[in-house]
Amino acid sequence: MAGVDDEAGLEAVRVRFLGRSGEITTLRRGIGALPPAERPDAGKVINAAVESLEAMLTEKSRELGRRALDAALATSIDVTFPGAPSRAGSLHPLRRTLEDACGYFERRGFAVVLGNEIETEYYNFDALNIPPDHPAREGLDSFYLRSGALLRTHTSPMQVRTMQANPPPIAIVTPGKAYRRDAVDARHSYMFHQLEGLLVAPGIHLGHLKGMLTGLFRELFGPAQTVRFRPSFFPFTEPSAEIDTTCPGCAGSGSLADGNACRTCGGSGWIEMGGAGMVHPGVLRESGYDPDAVSGWAFGMGIERLAMVRHGIDDIRVLFENDPRVLAQLA
Ligand SMILES: [Zn+2]
Repeated sequence: MAGVDDEAGLEAVRVRFLGRSGEITTLRRGIGALPPAERPDAGKVINAAVESLEAMLTEKSRELGRRALDAALATSIDVTFPGAPSRAGSLHPLRRTLEDACGYFERRGFAVVLGNEIETEYYNFDALNIPPDHPAREGLDSFYLRSGALLRTHTSPMQVRTMQANPPPIAIVTPGKAYRRDAVDARHSYMFHQLEGLLVAPGIHLGHLKGMLTGLFRELFGPAQTVRFRPSFFPFTEPSAEIDTTCPGCAGSGSLADGNACRTCGGSGWIEMGGAGMVHPGVLRESGYDPDAVSGWAFGMGIERLAMVRHGIDDIRVLFENDPRVLAQLA
């Protein structure tokens, strides 16, 4: 074996001993001619010889491989030559925004809870104080299943589910998909992601929410963000407010450096981010809480909206088309 220095030589050794008419093969064939008592021992000796020969062949083959690689590296491959960069993937902007927003609340003691995407009418509407004649309950606005259940139109059902299962205090955020029968355009999609927050404890008021959201927008958009509440109406909160934050596109001034009105905010200096309010006493009661003992706020906003403002995207479809060139730019 020591004299063998290529694969052909190795093969010659193999054939000489283990080939069809090789020396060991011939010995094995001769076993039948031995007296029966000697056959087992002869078999054992031959098997041991085959085993050790095969081990030697394998080791030699590896050694030849190593030598061939060394030779190739030494002559034809320049190991100092710069390699082709491999393109690493990155988190989708929606996923990253969702994780950053949830992380913000988690660091402040909130738990992240996920819910079912298929909900009952009770949790999606009734328990949230949404009356039977509300337009959202019509098949035109929501996706109903044959069973009468529906694809949740918001992540709010988890509020009641969590409160019914746990005594106060409650501090949760519930991110997830929601579905509405919207035609797809630059601002709408039949599927979108919501981030909902709920804080219920004695003495909670809207000031806590304003502070919490200001911190969130500063973390996601920049240190100069402020928050404005505009009076609004939702069945599940009272009072209710639309949440606006400073437009990062024009720093809240409404106009750009060239004097033109900011397109991101339409010149108002504010961007609408979602809805919020104090949890309606009816919702607290439905959850088994005493509205005289505890109060709470809830908010809901679209994660697409957060990501669009964060990255200066003006068309929601960009987030769903997943063009690798765009994703690389947003990474
Ligand atoms: Zn603006």
